[in-house]
Amino acid sequence: MASAARREGPVAGGLVGLDLGEGRRGADQRCLSLGHAPRAPRVPGRFFGTEQRVLHGAAGPLRLAHALAPHPEGAEGVDGGAATLQARLLESRVAVQEELRFVALVVARAGHEGDEEQREATHGRGLAGPGGWILSCAPRRLRAVSPVPLHGLTCDAVRALARERVGRGHGKARDIYRATLREGRFDPASHGLGEAPARRWREVFGFVLPEVVQEVREEGPTGVTAKAVLRTPDGLEHECVNIPMGRGRHTLCLSSQVGCKMGCAFCETGRMGLLRHLRAHEIVGQVLVARHVLGWEVRNVVFMGMGEALDNADAVLAALRVLNDPSGMAMGQERITVCTVGHLRGLRQLREAGFKRLNLSVSLNTPDDVRRSELMPVNRKTPLRELQAELAAYRPRRNFTLGVNYCLMPGLNDTREDAAGVAAFCAPIERVMLNVIPYNPGNAPLTRAPTEDEVEQFIGWLRDEGLPVRRRVTKGRSVMAACGQLGNAELRARRRGLPTLR
Ligand code: SF4
Repeated sequence: MASAARREGPVAGGLVGLDLGEGRRGADQRCLSLGHAPRAPRVPGRFFGTEQRVLHGAAGPLRLAHALAPHPEGAEGVDGGAATLQARLLESRVAVQEELRFVALVVARAGHEGDEEQREATHGRGLAGPGGWILSCAPRRLRAVSPVPLHGLTCDAVRALARERVGRGHGKARDIYRATLREGRFDPASHGLGEAPARRWREVFGFVLPEVVQEVREEGPTGVTAKAVLRTPDGLEHECVNIPMGRGRHTLCLSSQVGCKMGCAFCETGRMGLLRHLRAHEIVGQVLVARHVLGWEVRNVVFMGMGEALDNADAVLAALRVLNDPSGMAMGQERITVCTVGHLRGLRQLREAGFKRLNLSVSLNTPDDVRRSELMPVNRKTPLRELQAELAAYRPRRNFTLGVNYCLMPGLNDTREDAAGVAAFCAPIERVMLNVIPYNPGNAPLTRAPTEDEVEQFIGWLRDEGLPVRRRVTKGRSVMAACGQLGNAELRARRRGLPTLR
């Protein structure tokens, strides 16, 4: 029997891999999918639209699994898996098979060589791996090794996958999908299915919500601001915040990444760096947990939690489709706001996705290129002129109004000239709404919070320039739930030893 190292050989630049998480036998199995690209990826470290690392030769399968960087939505995760990847390939209709030859590997501990189905899939081939692990190999074929998160798919995608893989009972797809997304409970048996089809549904689809680690609350004049710390199955924490908007309405502030690589100087999350992107079902999972586990009323959602949403555009767009799906949560696009620091590639993806009624806001924070580059490193790559041109071209509908967020920081961006500069930046953009957000000092403050008089004065100057302005009332500052305060030292400490996306 060939050794795993010999079988894998020194992995050439074109061989890339996905860590698909645990197999059916939990910790006794690790599932990898390896693909061979005849050409090396054009952008090193990026492959197939996801961030991955090219594998390096001598790594054994376990070290290999741990060496793999996590990657966005669909293709990886303890409750994701090859089926998700397969669904994604089918959905995308990309003729990847012509370019790539995928090999699904099931890495199992000796004595757990997989079940009948897996043995059949692997054509009985097994390779001894280091540390008593067995590699099973299924060339040219992706095998479903763990359930696909149902809440990361639209109803149409669930129906298609159910038709293909559930067989008897697939006709209940719409009912099961609607009930799961609206009630936060995945129970195929309650839809009149027999034991075997219900079990098959559970084999094909999974529904695992993040664990609630902590909930903190702050009472305010408009209601309670609540922050929840959630933990993914692979142990990474992220946060979401429910903000009272008056008249009993609440907006849920969602995270799109664990950490963030944008490095904005005024932001706690930026100080964490990026641990990994959240996948579509993990983004949707925050809304489900808020509603059905924490009992929060959620009317609107805004992508202003941890992470730059458009740096994880694939997963965020997939999550938007799920949130908006009339057969599921049916959340209107006008109730969803995506916020960005000005991620050009993501903005273009968003524009091409064709969400006509979605809200978009951009964090400007200063109209001066030099200072913006200091405060927001993204500006070094995308200076204000380029950002302005992109935003002026973003008009998904005739009456679209772009939100422009301005975090007011005393001594850094609060002069009369700054207000005039903001007006000049907004001039070519047809309709804007300025949102002035008083700075919330975090653990390493850049400056103090502005006084009420300073905020009012700056708003007055903006109005003098003819700009419509809304003032954001600070909520949740005492529990580190306000804008720019998400993420904490404990989360940062856990970053050590974890793989980092570049
Ligand atoms: S403000 Fe947003 S984009 Fe900037 S570091 Fe914080 S989370 Fe990232």
